[in-house]
Amino acid sequence: NKMLDINKIRTDFPILSQKVNGKPLVYFDNGATSQKPQVVIDAIATYYEEINANIHRGVHTLSQLATDAYEESRIKIQNHINAKFAHEVLFTSGTTFGINLVANGFASLLKPNDEVMVSALEHHSNIVPWQMLCEKTGAKLVVIPMDENGELILSEYERLLSDKIKIVAVNHISNALGTVNPIKYMITKAHEVGAAVLIDGAQAVPHLKPDVQELDCDFYVFSGHKMCGPTGVGILYGKEAWLNKLPPYLGGGEMIKEVTFEKTTYADLPHKFEAGTPNIASGIVLGTAVDYMNSVGFENIQQQEKELLIYATEKLLEIEGLKIFGTAATKTSVISFNIDGIHPYDIGTIIDKLGIAVRTGHHCAQPIMNYFNIPGTIRASFAFYNTKEEIDIFVEAVKKAKTMLS
Ligand code: PMP
Repeated sequence: NKMLDINKIRTDFPILSQKVNGKPLVYFDNGATSQKPQVVIDAIATYYEEINANIHRGVHTLSQLATDAYEESRIKIQNHINAKFAHEVLFTSGTTFGINLVANGFASLLKPNDEVMVSALEHHSNIVPWQMLCEKTGAKLVVIPMDENGELILSEYERLLSDKIKIVAVNHISNALGTVNPIKYMITKAHEVGAAVLIDGAQAVPHLKPDVQELDCDFYVFSGHKMCGPTGVGILYGKEAWLNKLPPYLGGGEMIKEVTFEKTTYADLPHKFEAGTPNIASGIVLGTAVDYMNSVGFENIQQQEKELLIYATEKLLEIEGLKIFGTAATKTSVISFNIDGIHPYDIGTIIDKLGIAVRTGHHCAQPIMNYFNIPGTIRASFAFYNTKEEIDIFVEAVKKAKTMLS
């Protein structure tokens, strides 16, 4: 890569120089969670060493400092995703929480025979909360089908859209196959029938900077841990009007204006949805992670990941009997594959002994595996700090595993 000094970038990530099972770590499980740069690791310690206090409460100095840092992080994220207002950016514990919050809120808006739409490409966390919503309200779950390339069938999407659809929940990028969905187009079409749109951006934010105003999505959710941030924090972006319309999810401290035993009134946004003491350290440090990724630069990240994807795809396809699932025209740096007659789990176990971390299984997307009629795949997901040398090690290891298992 001409633009990035990968060796220098790699020194930002202490874990990458570790040995695992006596071999240099090759970490290709970035879709599950990314590794963390030293600035992020240090920022967590600094928070606890210097300003740890509860936020939005006491008048004392540390509480003020912690509150300021937390709110500055919110503004950083607002700018990063180009939200119109900081109060449209809610801190959550992660993508799963954000989707559940919205699905729970829609229970107050749906009637029997209304429809909720998801796609065939979703992670379980963007399926199950909507099923629970449908059970509660009598609404019907409608699924946008996909084709054998792992692309959503847009003509079917348009056919299924009607004024019965109240919300469309679809991922920006599929975790199991890497497909990048044409969400801008899908949002426009959903709005034409009056449906709201929630975008699951969990797999997008490690690779790109979403512009929520340009997309015009009603909700956009993601997790910090997949974009170089800590676990335990995520973001739910929602348009102000929608967040005012939805009821609170959790009741408790921090989310109220006034409490009496007769009646409670709720706080203004964003606090209405932020009951209780949040993960303060992670919330602050998510801002550090966003700064780090911007300092690397998303163009550089995309360039490096594209090179890795092309190189690994070519090398893997040289292996006889290897089949890649998900061949969408636009996909991110994810390769999901199987080798004829060999269970993915067996390959994952052997290459782990060689220091290589990949994910094997259904990737929390069982409907996709059912579509292809397979138990699961081996998924290698690359980040900008991965290298072609690592891909060579990985491909050799897969060949070795194949020989051992054939
Ligand atoms: N959606 C997608 C597309 C994902 O990849 C993931 C994480 N694997 C999630 C949702 C859930 O994210 P989290 O576990 O961080 O809540």
